[in-house]
Amino acid sequence: MITKMLIGGNWVNAADNKTFEVSDPRTGLPFASVPLGGIRDADAAVDAACLAFKSWAKTNVFARAALLRDAGALVEKNKQEIGRLMSREQGKPAQEAITEVQKAADILRYYAAEGERVYGRIIPSDESGTFSMVVYQPIGPCAAITPWNYPVELLAWKIGAALAAGCTLVCKLPSETPLCALLFIKYITDAGLPGGVINALTGEGKVIGQRILERKEIRKAAFTGSTAVGKDVLASCTESLRRSSMELGGSLPMLVFKDCDLDSAAIGAARRSFKNMGQICIAINRIYAEREIYEQFLSRFKEETEKLIIGDGLDGTADLGPMCKKQGVEAVTAHISDAIEKGARLITGGKAPVIPGFESGNWFSPTILADTDHSMKIMSEETFGPAVGVMPFDSMEEAVNLANDSIYGLAAIIYTQNLATVNYCAQALEAGNVAVNNVDAGTINAPYGGWKQSGFGHEHGPEGLYEYLNVKHVRIHAGGE
Ligand code: NDP
Repeated sequence: MITKMLIGGNWVNAADNKTFEVSDPRTGLPFASVPLGGIRDADAAVDAACLAFKSWAKTNVFARAALLRDAGALVEKNKQEIGRLMSREQGKPAQEAITEVQKAADILRYYAAEGERVYGRIIPSDESGTFSMVVYQPIGPCAAITPWNYPVELLAWKIGAALAAGCTLVCKLPSETPLCALLFIKYITDAGLPGGVINALTGEGKVIGQRILERKEIRKAAFTGSTAVGKDVLASCTESLRRSSMELGGSLPMLVFKDCDLDSAAIGAARRSFKNMGQICIAINRIYAEREIYEQFLSRFKEETEKLIIGDGLDGTADLGPMCKKQGVEAVTAHISDAIEKGARLITGGKAPVIPGFESGNWFSPTILADTDHSMKIMSEETFGPAVGVMPFDSMEEAVNLANDSIYGLAAIIYTQNLATVNYCAQALEAGNVAVNNVDAGTINAPYGGWKQSGFGHEHGPEGLYEYLNVKHVRIHAGGE
């Protein structure tokens, strides 16, 4: 286990030696501590990233890619260790955590290859002997601020793209899950990464996150987190007009049409509403089912949901572990109470199960609420927990209007066998990602980003790489015509 921060290639304590505890969500009890970084640590990390940038930006792109490939291999080799540690501090089942680490290794390799494909272009001119050249150059030292729900994968998206582009990073790790992120970074640096290319800080976001952003040498902020904190981060970028990408909150609508494969929709709904205890920015929050199949869908959805086994994520049998934070349990409970008070029907769940041996943990049962409407928090705010609201609709236009009735626009899901319905909805839905007859809107080689208050900018795909590159136009009069 790594319990120190990484600054300029050295694993260090906080300058003032302060620490904070990391808890196990199965019990709510602390099991490790990491440095509580402060202003001096943030400054040292920014300085290290600036110094390293001078040589990393000039390092041959193929050499950078080779290091990323080696890093991916080392992460993959050690995915069990990183994944089990993630399960311990985040709560998700170990197998799911190990899969997350595998995806992180894959994205390092993906961006190694994508970095080698940044070609620029040559543009002809109407003047003889003259042409324009467009080149892409690394933007500079960057900040990466990430949350606890996918503590390794969300970091990997940023590390892969930034390093391939020739940028250096100061990473502010999530306070709930710093350990797996530190270990992941250790295996990346073991590949031979020069000191200062990645720096990793632990501590409070409002202290060290803000300090990193105060430093004008940081040329881009890559933030994933809540919309509320995203607005603060964005405000901290305006003074220096810093580039930023904001991957923020969501309230994902799923549209279930009467002509769909109902079994597949119900299985998909159970998976995407409750995986990682609903603590996913693209977890299903709201389901709109066509009135003719509304009760039938509810009954199949309930059946699939009640098959899910909740328990100790480390023992290998559970589909769902505890929620990461006690406050998460409180938030989901509040959304359920609000909905029931306003007339929603409880289909399943609604309370915390008792898990023998782990009675003090952050448990909650997957919960389905029917007959909901948009006056209820469950349908209008991000729950970020294992509860979903379902309501009927009568026409395709009504379904799309309901889906779009949200400040968020991260992703949406449609289940239908009708191509015209797919065509209409996929275009009319106000979301950066739309999944049709599947529930996985995100994939490594296609752009992933939000609309409206779900943010802007992209990760994944070439778009994710170009976030870290400046465009330069060079107009050359070469003569020789
Ligand atoms: P938060 O916004 O609370 O925190 C995210 C990160 O920001 C943490 O590392 C946090 O540090 C840091 N932070 C907090 N305050 C500041 C500040 N003032 N300045 C700089 N950094 C700060 O989000 P959660 O951790 O609660 O994560 C859940 C949220 O993330 C949900 O809304 C979810 O939808 C969203 N999310 C979005 C995704 C997307 O791709 N669109 C993907 C995954 C999650 P600390 O932990 O120390 O407070």
